[in-house]
Amino acid sequence: MKPVTIEVRTDRRTRILDITALVKAAVQDAGFKHGAVMVYVPHTTAGVTINENADPDVKYDMETTLNRLVPEDPTYRHAEGNADSHLKASMMGFSTMVPIHEGRLMLGTWQGIMFCEFDGPRNRKVIVSFLAGA
Ligand code: ZN
Repeated sequence: MKPVTIEVRTDRRTRILDITALVKAAVQDAGFKHGAVMVYVPHTTAGVTINENADPDVKYDMETTLNRLVPEDPTYRHAEGNADSHLKASMMGFSTMVPIHEGRLMLGTWQGIMFCEFDGPRNRKVIVSFLAGA
């Protein structure tokens, strides 16, 4: 089954966006029933993770804590000026997997799939790849 590309637009330099509904729609549109999806971010300054989607303060706390741990700093050697964005992206990682059963994402009650922007605002891509299973 061919991977699906989801387009995401971010509106700030750092933004954690819940993309669960977009991934669900991709799974439903593909008619994919059993296995897992790999949600992959083909960028070097954005990542993806799974975390709580119920309280928006969790996303805020993640953003602000990552920015406190890895602040913008002109002394990095990377001349483009976004070394902190690369570091935070690697801390989150570039892919996550979710099992699929009977066409449904087997996320926990409070879990959502979070796209993590660290060098926005930008137009971004997220690739959903279908891994067939029993
Ligand atoms: Zn760079």
